[in-house]
Amino acid sequence: MKINNKLVFVILEITLIPLFLTIFVAYSNAKDQLETQIISKLQAVADVQKSRFENTNRENLEKLKLLTHDPDTLRLTDSYIKSPNSKQLATIQNKLNNYTNLIPGFKEISIANPDGIIVVSTNPASIGHDVSDFDFFQKGKTTNNVTEFLKDQNGALTLNLSGPLISKDTTIGVLIIVSDGSSITSITSNYIGLGATGETLLVTKDKNGDALFLTPSRFDPGAPLSRIVTKDNVNIPSVHAANGEEIVMLDSVDYLGTPIIAVTRYIPESSWGIVAKISQDEAYSPIKSTGSLLLFIGILSLTITLFISYSVAKTFSSPITKLTEFARKVGLGDLTQRISINTKDEIGVLSLVFNETVSKLQLSYQDLEKKIAERTSQLLVNLKELDESRKATLSTLEDVNHEKVKFEALLTNIGEGVIATDEQTNIIVVNPAAERILGLNKNEIYGKSLTTVVPVVDKDGNVIPVNKRPINAAISTMKPFSTSINDDYYYQRKDGVKIPVSLNASPVVINGRISGIINVFRDISHEKNVDRMKTEFVSLSSHQLRTPLTAIKWGIEAFMEDVGNLSLKQKEDLKDINNSTLRMIELVNSLLNISRIESGRIEVIPQPINIVKLANDVVSKLKLEMTKKGISIVMNVTDILPTINLDEKLIYNVYQNLVSNAISYSPEGSKIVLSIFSKNGEAVSSVQDAGIGIPEGEKPHIFDKFYRASNARQVRPDGSGLGLYIVKSIVESSGGKIWFESTVGKGTTFYFSIPLTGMKEKRGEVSLT
Ligand code: ADP
Repeated sequence: MKINNKLVFVILEITLIPLFLTIFVAYSNAKDQLETQIISKLQAVADVQKSRFENTNRENLEKLKLLTHDPDTLRLTDSYIKSPNSKQLATIQNKLNNYTNLIPGFKEISIANPDGIIVVSTNPASIGHDVSDFDFFQKGKTTNNVTEFLKDQNGALTLNLSGPLISKDTTIGVLIIVSDGSSITSITSNYIGLGATGETLLVTKDKNGDALFLTPSRFDPGAPLSRIVTKDNVNIPSVHAANGEEIVMLDSVDYLGTPIIAVTRYIPESSWGIVAKISQDEAYSPIKSTGSLLLFIGILSLTITLFISYSVAKTFSSPITKLTEFARKVGLGDLTQRISINTKDEIGVLSLVFNETVSKLQLSYQDLEKKIAERTSQLLVNLKELDESRKATLSTLEDVNHEKVKFEALLTNIGEGVIATDEQTNIIVVNPAAERILGLNKNEIYGKSLTTVVPVVDKDGNVIPVNKRPINAAISTMKPFSTSINDDYYYQRKDGVKIPVSLNASPVVINGRISGIINVFRDISHEKNVDRMKTEFVSLSSHQLRTPLTAIKWGIEAFMEDVGNLSLKQKEDLKDINNSTLRMIELVNSLLNISRIESGRIEVIPQPINIVKLANDVVSKLKLEMTKKGISIVMNVTDILPTINLDEKLIYNVYQNLVSNAISYSPEGSKIVLSIFSKNGEAVSSVQDAGIGIPEGEKPHIFDKFYRASNARQVRPDGSGLGLYIVKSIVESSGGKIWFESTVGKGTTFYFSIPLTGMKEKRGEVSLT
C-alpha cells in the first residue's frame, strides 16, 4: 500500500471510528427509549381494554343475576315446568319480553328445562330446541356466566349469558340470554392511542388449543369465530394470549405476518386473551428520521474527512514519494540524480544527506570501475597462465596415463606375483601372476588384509610370528625385507597347499610416512626341488667318497710308519699327500653335515650340559694348534650359568668352528678371548680375536654356503667356506641367534645366543660327523 493511501487510511480510522461509534450509540439509545415508550403505551392500552372487558362482563352478570334471582320468574317457571299451560307460558313470556325491552343489548331470553330443552323463549321459534350440548347450558346449570360468542342466523355476533334457576335448592331450569356482541366489539374497535396500525384483539383457546378470534379485527372484519392462529405459531402473540400468558413481545408478527410489537393480557374468568399491538413500521417511524439524519451526518463527515485526510497525506507523502523515486533511480544505477526538497524539516535534511551520499557513491563507483578494469586485465593474464598450466597438467596427466598403462602392462605380464597393500596391509592391487600362484580371484580379496587372505607359514605349516612376517618387518623397519631360497617362507593357499616363495616386501614411504607395501614374490618350488636334489647328490657323493678316502688315509698312515727307504723329498711329498687327504676328508664331512642339516635328517638329543665346561673342552682340543701359532686364549665367564638342555655334539661343533676360525685368521702371538655370560634369558657366548677382520662389503655374505672373504683366501687358501653356514644352521634351529662385529686389520668378535630353556628334542636318522 502506498504511503499516501496509508496516511489517508489512518486519518480516516482516527476520525471516523469515534464518530460512527457515537452515531451508533445515540441511535441505539433513541431506539431503546422509543421501545420503552411504545411498550408502556401498549401495556396501558392492554390494561385499559382488559378492565373494560371485565367491567362489561361484570355488568352483564349483574343483570343476569337480577333475572335468575327474580322470585316471580322462579315461581312461574317452577309451576310451568311442573304443569305447562299456555296461560302460564304467556305470562312468563310477557315477563321476559319486558326484560328484553328494558335492558338494551338483550336480544332474546329463554328458559331451558333441566334436560336442555327450551321451554320458554321471547323468540317462539326457539321453543323446543335442544341446547343440552352447548357450553352455555352446561355451565349455566351451576353458575351465572358469560359463556360464549355465537353468531345468530343473520350472522351477527352474539354473546350468550346463562345461569341456573334455583327454587328451594333445586335447579328447575337454566336461564339463557342472547346478548348483542356489540358491547364487546365496541371495546375492540376503539383504536384510541393505537395510531394507524395498532389494535386490540380478543381471542380464546379453542378445542384444539389454537387461538380463535372472538371479535372483528381492524384489518379483518370477518375474523370473529373464524380466524384461527394455530398453536405452533409461537412468534404470534395471539397464541400466547390465548394460552393465558401476560408478556411483552418486541419482535413478533401478527396474524397477517406483519412485524409488530405486542403486549398480551388474560381474563381467566372468561378464558379470554387480549393482544394490544402496533406495527413495527409505525412504532419506529419517529426514529427513522433520526436514523436518516445520522446517516446523512455520517456520509457528510466521511466525505469531508476523506478530503482533509487526502490533502494532509499529500503534504506528508509527496516529499517521501519524491525521495522514493530518487532512491529507485539511484538504485538502478543513475548516480547523476540529485533531489531538491526545500523544507526545513527532517525530510529536507534527509534529502541533503541523500544528495551527499550519492555524490560520494558516484566518486567511489568511479574508483571501483577503475579498479575493476585493472583487476580484469590482471585476471585475463591469470586466465592465460591458468590455461597454460591446464594444458601442462593435461600433458602431465597424459604422461601419467601413459606411465599407468605401462605400469599396468608390466604388472600384468610380469612373472612375479605382485600384491600392493595400504598401510593397514589391506590389499589394493593384485596382478595376474599373484592370482595364479595363490589360486585367488583378485575381486574377492580387494580391501581384505593380506595376512588373513594368504597366511605366511614355515615348512611345517606353523604360522610365522608377526615380527618375522615380511610385510610387518617392512612396516616396522620402514625398509625392504627380503627372503631367499634358504629361508623357509611359504604362502598357504585356501586349499591348504603350501607354496615356497622368495619374496620382497618394500614399504612405499611418502614424506616420511608409510603409505603402503609392495609385496613381490616368486614361486620357488622348482628351485627348492633342484636344491633338494643337489643336497641329495652332495650327501650321496660325500658318503660314497668317505670310504675310499678313509682307505687312502689309512694306507698313507701305514706307509708313513715305514719311511726308511724313502728320500727326503719323497717323505715331504708323502706328508703333503696325507695333509691333503685329511683336508679332503674334512671337506667331505662338512658337505655331508650340510646335506644332513638341510634335509632335516639330523637328530637332536638334548641333555643337561654345562656349556662353560664344553667350551673348555673345545679349547683343550685346539691347544696344540694355538701353541703352534703362539696364540693364547682367555676364558672370561662372568655369570654362573645353569646347566642347559642341549645336544652336546651340535654345540661342540659351534664352539669348535668359531674358535678354530679365530685361530686361523689371527696373527701369531695374538690373543683370543672366549666370553660366556647370560642376558635376557639366554646364554650368550662370544669369541673375540685380533685377526684380519672381515671387509665391510663382504659382511652380508659371511654366513653363505662356500663363501670366503677375499682377505681370508690369502691368509688360508684351503678353507671350505662351510663352517659358519653349519654354525648358523645349528644356532638358529636351537632357537638362538648369531652375529658378529668386525674391523679389517683389527679383529673380529662372533656372538651366539642360546635360550636357557634349551633345545627341543628331535628324532632323526643321523648325527653330525
Ligand atoms: P673357512 O674358514 O673354511 O673359510 P668358514 O665358513 O668357517 O669357512 O668361514 C667363512 C669365512 O668367514 C671365512 O673364509 C672368512 O673369510 C670369514 N671368517 C670366519 N671367521 C673369521 C674370523 N675369525 N676372522 C676373520 N674372518 C673370518
